Amino acid sequence: MYQFQYHRPKNLAEALDLLAQDGDAKLLAGGQTLLPTLRQRLAAPSALVDLAGISELTGISTKGELLSIGAMTRYIEIIESPLVQATLPSLARAVALVGDPLVRNRGTIGGSLANNDPTADLTAAALAMHATFVTDRRSISADEFFVDLFETALEQGEILVRIEFPLPDRAAYVKFRNPASRYALVGVFVAEVHGDIRVAVTGAKAKVFREHAFEAALQTEFSAKAVKGLDVGTTGLIDDLHASAEYRANLISVLTRRAISAAMIGSHRGA
Ligand SMILES: Cc1cc2nc3c(=O)[nH]c(=O)nc-3n(C[C@H](O)[C@H](O)[C@H](O)COP(=O)(O)OP(=O)(O)OC[C@H]3O[C@@H](n4cnc5c(N)ncnc54)[C@H](O)[C@@H]3O)c2cc1C
Repeated sequence: MYQFQYHRPKNLAEALDLLAQDGDAKLLAGGQTLLPTLRQRLAAPSALVDLAGISELTGISTKGELLSIGAMTRYIEIIESPLVQATLPSLARAVALVGDPLVRNRGTIGGSLANNDPTADLTAAALAMHATFVTDRRSISADEFFVDLFETALEQGEILVRIEFPLPDRAAYVKFRNPASRYALVGVFVAEVHGDIRVAVTGAKAKVFREHAFEAALQTEFSAKAVKGLDVGTTGLIDDLHASAEYRANLISVLTRRAISAAMIGSHRGA
């Protein structure tokens, strides 16, 4: 590792100040992605600004039909939260599929979404449920947040504060794991929010995306049958040593049908 300064601000204002003073500083959340990156010398920030002591970035609450989760909420806290289990069990189940116990004990929802790994799980949850990303200065819709491979709409010096999920009528996530890394080879999150049906796919392209043809078919009839036989196509799909584009295309079809079935038999807030 290179040498770097370590800061542990006590509040959001202090963290923003540190970022404004040093354009080369990086935010540290759970460190599950960032620390290995530093160890492998793939990044060499001048300073780390640790968000762990900032209470404004924590907490899980509901307001009307919205579930709000602080960016520094660790995966394990989401999985074990009675509020998430009661209001949005499909999210708790998706989070339980992330990595291994160590990753789930340290990793945070904000770190995962800000990182925008193309094979991450929660990007699909956020996109399917049309979540809103609240930062220190604005709100960004999920459709705008995920820009490209490891790139989000967050600007230099901007901090993700919380993510707001509209509570879906029904929702479910199905993941086909890469057995070596545990990341999604393909993962599909299906959600119906206020009558609007969205299908978000992770693991298959450079960034999470919506399968619009499936959404249109489901809007007419919410059943696995409605999407059977619809052509996914291989354009833009990842084709690598883990799986061919054709294999991923087939997984998208199969996992979408499974997610639809799971959403139909789950509770009203999702399987
Ligand atoms: C062995 C292993 C297996 C894994 N398996 C999976 C898996 O199956 N599915 C999956 O989805 N993920 C998986 N991950 C990744 C894991 O989910 C990471 O925790 C996550 O990608 C990053 O979260 P973090 O809290 O550790 O963030 P960090 O590593 O601390 O930060 C990641 C990036 O986000 C930025 N950042 C963090 N917080 C904020 C914020 N509030 N505002 C703005 N920017 C911020 C940081 O500056 C950094 O660039 C795995 C990781 C490992 C090591």
